[in-house]
Amino acid sequence: MKVHNFNAGPSVLPNEVLYKASKALIDYDGTGMSILEIGHRTEYFMAVMDEARSLARELMQLDDDFEVLFLHGGASTQFMQVPMNLLDSGETAAYIDTGVWSNKAIKEAKLFGYVDVIASSKEGGYNYIPKQFNIPGQAKYLHITSNNTIYGTQWHEMPKTDLPIVVDMSSDILSRQMDYNQFSLIFAGVQKNMGAAGATMVAIRKSLLGKVGRKIPTMLDYQQHIENGSMLNTPPVFAVYISMLTLRWLKSQGGLAGIEKINAKKAALLYDEIDHNPLFRGTAVKEDRSLMNVCFVMDKPELEEEFLKFCKKEDIVGIRGHRTVGGFRASIYNALPYESVEVMVEAMKYFSLKKV
Ligand SMILES: *Cc1c(COP(=O)(O)O)cnc(C)c1O
Repeated sequence: MKVHNFNAGPSVLPNEVLYKASKALIDYDGTGMSILEIGHRTEYFMAVMDEARSLARELMQLDDDFEVLFLHGGASTQFMQVPMNLLDSGETAAYIDTGVWSNKAIKEAKLFGYVDVIASSKEGGYNYIPKQFNIPGQAKYLHITSNNTIYGTQWHEMPKTDLPIVVDMSSDILSRQMDYNQFSLIFAGVQKNMGAAGATMVAIRKSLLGKVGRKIPTMLDYQQHIENGSMLNTPPVFAVYISMLTLRWLKSQGGLAGIEKINAKKAALLYDEIDHNPLFRGTAVKEDRSLMNVCFVMDKPELEEEFLKFCKKEDIVGIRGHRTVGGFRASIYNALPYESVEVMVEAMKYFSLKKV
């Protein structure tokens, strides 16, 4: 039996992806071998890698300057790999601080060059996206976090600049239509919105590379990964396979146009309940609310544990807020069904009728 899974990551995957993967675990495509037993340089796995890379490119409609890679190490490794490849010592990169994940990126970038934190929403407890900032023209790139998983804020309009934009899209990758070509480097741990933990998707402009003087270790050099077709060493084969299946599923939902409609409908239903139910209150400012992570609290915090217990009884799981902020967080990623949001909203209505 399946529950209503609002986990923030790793998180819910489409049923048909899990079903297909479970069969591939025993016998991949009639080969008599598990997907886990196939060499990564066989035609079987090469086809999986190629399809995953090309589906990601197709869904985001990336131009020819882009290469799509599936790497190891999670989004957190990108926090250091980005500046190692793009920022020479003595040079400056601009970062916008919208929470924990931005801060981790800032910390790593300081190991390689200067960091100019041009805006921060820290004083508001990261409950909004900064709107006023000057982007210094001499910076090498601008780094932003498109969706702030912990606080439930999201950039709905991207900053306008001639600088290359590097974006951490770990928690809203492929969730909406956008001009993805406005970016120069897009990265995302795939475990939130496009697959299983173990792989990180990086879409990078080739024209961005080869401009720093330092020697880059092979495994951290984007150029080498590109030249080797994202097969510099053994890739995380199962995680890439799950991503490929999830990307196929996404395409079958009408691509980003299709999923964006469903995501907007889910978020509207849940935020509407939060705004009208007297027991609950949203924590992010309305105009910056995330369509992926819905964060809210109760005005009577003493009821929070009771509500969590009630939800568990209703098969609603994963809604406890991040340990650093408390309250609740319902992650409503691409694969979370609309029906799960309906069940959640019913639970909120019922609980508040009993309590108010
Ligand atoms: C989860 C998350 C990360 C960390 O991802 P890992 O793959 O665990 O390293 C980074 N950035 C954002 C925005 C996230 O949501």
